[in-house]
Amino acid sequence: MTTDQEIDFTSSKARKRVESWPVCPRRVRYYQFKSETEARTYGQFTFDARRFGSFVNVWLGTTGHTKSDLRLVEWFLDADQRSDEVLDLPREWRKLEALIQRFIRDQGAPCFCVACNREYAAKELKRMDDTVENSNRAYLYKRLICPEDHLLYESLDLRLIRRPQAIPRL
Ligand SMILES: [Zn+2]
Repeated sequence: MTTDQEIDFTSSKARKRVESWPVCPRRVRYYQFKSETEARTYGQFTFDARRFGSFVNVWLGTTGHTKSDLRLVEWFLDADQRSDEVLDLPREWRKLEALIQRFIRDQGAPCFCVACNREYAAKELKRMDDTVENSNRAYLYKRLICPEDHLLYESLDLRLIRRPQAIPRL
């Protein structure tokens, strides 16, 4: 068993209380495996924990920090700089996952594509977004794909569309 697996907490056992998490290592990793639409995703994004902590701090600062947000930020900022481990971040915490996805798109992170079996620099990744409208709903898909067109991650937002009221027939 590698050290990596010993502190893996991406399973259903993932704990939402930051206090019970192991000390954050210098580098953390995020992978989705399957998106909300059940699409298989191939990206493993690795990034610096402190850099991400600063990003979260700024981002959450605009919406106001809760106590658990502050603990989360501290957990990333207190990352052990001597640690060579790469920790897989828990995916069950949707708020955290949304922040990771925003970070990956806005700041960029190197990504290992499992299908290609190689790593790509952030600038090699391509965005592939689209919007699908269905009655009064708009589904916003945001995606990153590798140079070989493998889906690395996909997020889905739902927006309700306001349409002018139809003129009633007489
Ligand atoms: Zn690929």
